[in-house]
Amino acid sequence: MTTQGFSSGSWVPTTEEHSRASALVEAYAEVQGQMARLQAESALILAELAGIAKAQSARSGSTSDHKFAFRSMAAEVASVVRVPDATVRVRMCDAVTLVSEFPATFAALGEGRVSDAHARVITAAGARLDEGARTEYEGIVLARAENTTAAALRPIAKALAERIDPLPLTARHERAMDARGVWLTPLEDGMGELRIVAPAVLVFGAHDRLTQMARVIKRAADGQERTMDHIRADVATDLILTGAPTSGDGLDAIRAAVQVSIPADTLLGLGDDSALLAGYGPIDPDAARRLATRAPTWVRLFTDPDTGCLRTVDTHTPTASQRRFLVARDEHCRFPGCRQPARRSDLDHTVAHAERGRTTVTNLAHLCETHHMLKHHSPWRMHQGEDGVIEWISPLGRTYTHAATPVVRFQALAQVIAPVVALEDVMPAGAVLDLVVAEPAPF
Ligand SMILES: [Zn+2]
Repeated sequence: MTTQGFSSGSWVPTTEEHSRASALVEAYAEVQGQMARLQAESALILAELAGIAKAQSARSGSTSDHKFAFRSMAAEVASVVRVPDATVRVRMCDAVTLVSEFPATFAALGEGRVSDAHARVITAAGARLDEGARTEYEGIVLARAENTTAAALRPIAKALAERIDPLPLTARHERAMDARGVWLTPLEDGMGELRIVAPAVLVFGAHDRLTQMARVIKRAADGQERTMDHIRADVATDLILTGAPTSGDGLDAIRAAVQVSIPADTLLGLGDDSALLAGYGPIDPDAARRLATRAPTWVRLFTDPDTGCLRTVDTHTPTASQRRFLVARDEHCRFPGCRQPARRSDLDHTVAHAERGRTTVTNLAHLCETHHMLKHHSPWRMHQGEDGVIEWISPLGRTYTHAATPVVRFQALAQVIAPVVALEDVMPAGAVLDLVVAEPAPF
């Protein structure tokens, strides 16, 4: 295990501050737990109210009466708590789903083990599973939910539901394609909102391209008052209205980059296991195969068939390989809960090079600018194990273990699947092809 030291500055807490801060952190966690318990209570109340509405309508025997009994009950609640009744109807439906279809998640919320946000991620991703599959799904996803953020849980839950009940993603994708479109919403004070729903690969690519352009503009103009969000919005409207960005030099040289991991047998057309879009989750295998034919570079990754840990890459070009390996392993900044993509983070030596830290994948990890600074300018300390698992130790002495997203996802999947089918010499068992797509966005 490697480690990194920090020479403490004068702002490090005094003994008194340390114990006060520790107590407050505990108190905050306790209040959050209580809020989760109250959310579970609210859900139970709403589900029971929905049950009464259902019983009322059952006595009439008419389906339209059911709709009105439900609406009437929602309006009743809405008037008392002063929220729109449409909002209460959605909450009632969600409550019924949670209480009656996801009992383990409902129990975990009631015990404060997961938050309301986690519960919503779990029910949304597992909604299409049948009862038996849901039980298996909840068992695995809840264990993950207890040590990760709701945002990080979303791609894991989606991949897990997909693996437990592999409803052909191609068919689902075709159906979902019907929902693509662009919507305009007028906002107050002379503003408007444009919302685009399109295939995830294109939308992620578009957002990545806007971000890269915004970074160049921000770097070029020192003292720039526009935030990254402002510049992204300006560049997006420029591109749509003029077909080309109108500010900054060299912007048209920037290409969108998305990263897709494709199981070897899917790529070879031998299977239809989903490909994974980094930071999103499963995507249509056909789309992934089409991307593969246009990718300028491929990297072969080898995973441990038992644990799913990424082990190594082809060794012909070590430095570039290490980088690509680490982007695939980390996906995001390695500070717990941070969603900054690896591509926009720094590769940090866990033990500094100056302190004889080696340039190996078990001593390198992605940290975003914020967390890179935090590591070097505060008493937060990190250790990295041989398997790339990072242990963070807080100034108050708490330990947080952080496994890279793909590892967590593959480990969750490993609980429900047989080992990957062995392929011949070129594709050892457990091999996953990582594909880095770098090309002009097609718009
Ligand atoms: Zn970060």
